[in-house]
Formats: sequence, C-alpha cells, structure tokens
Amino acid sequence: MQYHVNGFHPGDPDILPAAPDHRRAGDPLPETVDVLIAGSGPAGLCLAAQLARVPQIRTMLVEPKPGPMEKGQADGISVRSMEMFQAFGFAEKVMRESVWINETTFWAPGAQSALDRVARVQDVPDGISEMPHVLLNQARVHDMFLDIMRRSPTRLAPDYGLRVVDLAIDRAAAAYPVTATLEYTTPERAGQTVRVRANYVIGCDGARSNVRRAIGGELHGDAAHQAWGVMDVLAVTDFPDWRMKSFVRSKDAGILMVLPREGGHLVRLYVELDNLGEDERVADRGMDAADIIAKAQRIFRPFTLDVREVVWWSIYEIGHRLTDKFDDVPEAEVATRAPRVMLAGDACHTHSPKAGQGMNVSMGDTFNLGWKLIAVLTGRADAALLHSYSGERQAAAKGLVEFDHKWARVVGARAEDAATDGLPRVAREFVNNLPFTCGLTIQYPAGLLTGEATHQALAPGFDLGKRFHSAGVIRLADAKPMQLGHCVEADARFRLFLFAPAGDTGATGGAVAGLCDWLQHDPQSPVLRHTAPGEDLDAVIDVRAVFQQHFRSLDFNAMPALLRPPVGRYGLRDYEKVFCADAKDFDDIFEARGIDRAQGCLVVVRPDQYVAQVLPLTERAALTRYFGGFLRVRR
Ligand SMILES: Cc1cc2nc3c(=O)[nH]c(=O)nc-3n(C[C@H](O)[C@H](O)[C@H](O)COP(=O)(O)OP(=O)(O)OC[C@H]3O[C@@H](n4cnc5c(N)ncnc54)[C@H](O)[C@@H]3O)c2cc1C
Repeated sequence: MQYHVNGFHPGDPDILPAAPDHRRAGDPLPETVDVLIAGSGPAGLCLAAQLARVPQIRTMLVEPKPGPMEKGQADGISVRSMEMFQAFGFAEKVMRESVWINETTFWAPGAQSALDRVARVQDVPDGISEMPHVLLNQARVHDMFLDIMRRSPTRLAPDYGLRVVDLAIDRAAAAYPVTATLEYTTPERAGQTVRVRANYVIGCDGARSNVRRAIGGELHGDAAHQAWGVMDVLAVTDFPDWRMKSFVRSKDAGILMVLPREGGHLVRLYVELDNLGEDERVADRGMDAADIIAKAQRIFRPFTLDVREVVWWSIYEIGHRLTDKFDDVPEAEVATRAPRVMLAGDACHTHSPKAGQGMNVSMGDTFNLGWKLIAVLTGRADAALLHSYSGERQAAAKGLVEFDHKWARVVGARAEDAATDGLPRVAREFVNNLPFTCGLTIQYPAGLLTGEATHQALAPGFDLGKRFHSAGVIRLADAKPMQLGHCVEADARFRLFLFAPAGDTGATGGAVAGLCDWLQHDPQSPVLRHTAPGEDLDAVIDVRAVFQQHFRSLDFNAMPALLRPPVGRYGLRDYEKVFCADAKDFDDIFEARGIDRAQGCLVVVRPDQYVAQVLPLTERAALTRYFGGFLRVRR
C-alpha cells in the first residue's frame, strides 16, 4: 500500500483525497452522467467501486430499496472472488470476518444407522490459490464495496429510493445518448419520475431487470420445477458436522445442505422441498420457514434440530436461464456501433444457489467490464473495446448455467451409486468440479485481449486467458515475502511481469535492462505510446520484474530506471517493483509456474487479473501490436 506520495497526509490512508467537484449528499440529481448503474447488488456495487476511484468519471447508482441490504441472498465467496477482493484491498477483512470452508462431508443412509458420514473431502485443493473459500453474508460484501465508494475521490453513494423504469437511446447523439426514466419508490414521492441522460447505462438490476426489458433482451432457459428452501438459523443440534459444509441425503425425506456461516454459530440450510407441477409456482404452495424447518428435521433424523432463531429464509424455484447478449448491439451491427447499454449479473444469467455461484459470477461480470469502461471514458481506448465484454462474459455465464444444470441433478439424485474409487458419486462429482466452483476454469479465448499460445511453454503455469495464478516472491527493497499477484490492484492498470533469465541481475547488458530501456525510451514502446503526457509512466502499464537470485545478492540501485521510477510531486523513488524468487517461505515461483529459467519471459496481466500474453523478453513488436490493438496512441 503506497501513500504519502504527494506529501504527508494524516489519518486513514484508505480515505482518498476528495475530488473538488464531487457530488455531496443532498445535492440535486445530476441531469447528465457518464455511467448510470441500475441496482446495488454485488454486480452494481463491484462496478461502482471501480468507477468511484476515477475522479473524471461521473457515476450514478440508483436502487429502489430504501437503504443497504442487511441480510439474506448469497453467501458463497469463491477463491477467485477472494483474489478479486485482494485487488480491492478488503480480502484480509473478509478472511477475518467470514467462515472458511476447509472440509466438505457427505452423509447418506448407512448400513448401521439412518444416516452415516459416507465421505469427506478437502474443500479447496492444495496449490490452487493462495486464498480460501469462505462464506459471508452478501450484505457484508456490499458494505465492503460501499466503504470503498465512500472513501474514494468521488465519495460515491447510491441514490436509494429510485428505480429505472425505461430507457430511450438516441443513436445520433454524440454525448449522453441514453435517457433513463427513473421512478421514485420512496413513499413521499412514489410514482414521480425524473430523467437522467447518460453515456452508458449498466443494468445490474437483477433477474427481473427493467434495463434488459428496455433493450429487448430476454432470459432463455428452463425451470426445474423444483422448490428449495433456504434459511439462516441459530439452532441447537447434535449433528456432528454442523460447522462443516455438508451434503445430507436421507433415505426418503430428501436432501439438504449445511453451510456454516460467519461468527461461529449461524448456519445456512438449503432444504429440498417439493417438486412443482408444470404450471405451478412455488408461491402457490404457501410454504414458509416452518415448512423448511419441519422438512430439515425429517431429513436430519436421527439427529435433532432445535431452531432458536430464523435470521432469514426464502423459498425459490430452480431455474437456469441466460440472455442471448449482454449489451444493446445486435450481432449484425457489431461492426458499426459500440454498446451503450450493458447487462450484468442476474439480469443476464440465473441459476440455482446450490453451487454458490450467483454473487461470484455477478461480480466477475463487472470486474471484467469496469476497467474497459474506465479505459473508454478516460480516452485510453476506443468504445469498440466494450464489445469484448459481452463476448467474454456471455461464454462464461453459459458455462455456469450448463454446469449448474448438471450439478443440480447430481445433488438431487435419489439413489446413491458409488463412483469407481469408492467415493459416493456426489462426492466424486464435487471433487471433480472444484476448479469450477472455485471460479478458476474461466478461460477467455485468443483474440483482441488474449494472445495466441505460441510461447505458452515459457511459462505453462500462467495459462493464457485464465486468471493469473499468483505465487510467492520476496520484494527486493524491503525483503518482504508476499504474493506477486497482489501487485494487481483494482485500478484499471495492466501489469507487465518480466521474469529474468538465469544470471540476469538487472544490470545493463542483460535482457531485463534491455527491455526496460526499450519500454522507457523507444517510440514503439506501449508504455510510451499509450500513456498521456503528464501521466506517471506506470499510469496505464505498470512494469515489474522478478529475478531468480536470492534478494541479498542483488542491488536495488543497479536496477533499470523503469523499475525504480520517480513518483509524485517530489519525485520520490518507487521501491515496490522488483522481486526475487524465494524458496524459503514459498515455492520458488520459477519452479511453481514452470518458467523457462534459461530464457525467462514476460507475462502481461489485464486489470481484471487475467493473463493476456506470455512472450519472450525479446518479443517487443508483439507487445506493441497487442496493446495497439485496443489502446489509443496518446503521444
Ligand atoms: C431472494 C433471493 C435469494 C437468493 N438466495 C441466494 C442464495 O441463497 N444463495 C446464492 O448463492 N445466491 C442467492 N441468490 C442469488 C444471488 O443473490 C444473486 O445471484 C446475486 O445477488 C446477483 O447479483 P446482482 O447484483 O446481479 O443482482 P441482485 O443482487 O439481485 O441485485 C439487483 C439489485 O437491483 C435492484 N433493482 C431491481 N430493479 C431495479 C430497477 N428497475 N432499477 C434499479 N435497481 C433495481 C434490486 O433492488 C437489487 O438491489 C438469491 C437472490 C435472490 C434475489
């Protein structure tokens, strides 16, 4: 965490200096904004937290509810989302507050008793990520994003009591082409409307999205005609695995899932209720929390369940649906116009909560969109870049819906058939699907933002198109053991990691020094071409290097100037760009990621932590071509 860069600033360093013209509470609604976000769920807030950090972008977020959510909905936070939270700076806070899911157990009718533990597996495979899989109230995740917004230069806060009812798009307008009609939902102004014009509208307004309707989008898919209950309870029970994630299948009373929650006592239960008729809605059954409790008690027998408090409950139907496009541009017009309205989260994909993916994939959508919107709105990229959002995320959501379709049936399976290795099938499927439920299988295809795998062999551990698989290093200037991936913050910048070949000390004449010199001085350098005059040299592309030697054998002052640049108004030295492999606290990163020690390599990481390029240190033209494909030349 770097601060005091432009002079000493007392107090909490997470509170950033306010932009002089930021909107203050009580100020009238703006007539025009750059981005209007509909909905303050995880998708909307994850986007707002990124945009709020950019003073020159005017963002507005409207939410019909009167205030922040307090409880309910999702709780599953995948390791991939935890890696993303690290980029926002609140992963440690979540790790402290949440419950970690370390082991998952499986119960089924046994030979001995009505219910036996038939399997147990480690929840997160070793080495898959430095982060844990955790559970925490969705509302607390919202609070983390709201905190970032409140402390950002724009001091952004949702406009509660307002909802989007309709959109009109003037394709001829150069600025603010989208007019949103907002309706007040507060009792005193209910039904009154106001209009706001925006350059972009992002529909994060949930499964019944008005924004989706306004652009003619539809959810396609099916309903499983199955009702499930969910409840967060404080209860007394003799079920041994009350603090473990557990799948419990009874002989003939159905299935439930136990999910321990934050605070050491709260527990979430997902309880299979009834099958619904073809045209039947769950509401027709008039079931409530008492029905969920009764069903859970029957499934748990012979164990007892004495519920002392129901904190939250809901009953829902399982449905798997996906919208055909995540923006307002039909396929046929992609070549002629850029999106102005985009959708994210439940507004474009719905699925069962069983895999705990809802919140995760929704945030994944807007973490993919955020840096692209910032690049376009700050003049770094052409608006055509925004086409890649629907392209990349629609495919990811399709994978999720297909997976959930299959998983819902595995969990719901009646008879227990053992898989070949003796594990019950549900447990075997659970283990096989862990990389997916960890959120780590998304791989963006080669194209505008992801390079070809021509040089993948230089670093097979950094899969192109997948998220950057962090590993431990030592920071040279202060000998700090840390995760290299934690250099990638949610600040819309690219990272260029230079992995030095054996024997390279950063000294002149070496591959690292040669490339750094080119990046800093050559007119073909993307660092120069895409950074505006007056911006810090690392404002768009942040270059870092990792050496194979022990940190005690390297000299920071002998490093290339690009790796120890002057920053801020005093021209202070940046000491945080040079690292060394470390075999003491971690596995050596060159080993762990299979990096070619003789040649070294460079790895380009996108602002959303996905690997964009793996190239030889000498492949300069490819670097120029890559960034030139979507970033504007600005000098
Ligand atoms: C009742 C319910 C229970 C759920 N339970 C679980 C669960 O148990 N486990 C799980 O994993 N997932 C659960 N989910 C799913 C999970 O919460 C979602 O997948 C996740 O929240 C999606 O995030 P989102 O931001 O896309 O949408 P949401 O979280 O749904 O947020 C959408 C927001 O948009 C607002 N909004 C609606 N209409 C408008 C409008 N016209 N203009 C502006 N704003 C609008 C809404 O008030 C809401 O705040 C549940 C969802 C719901 C709705």
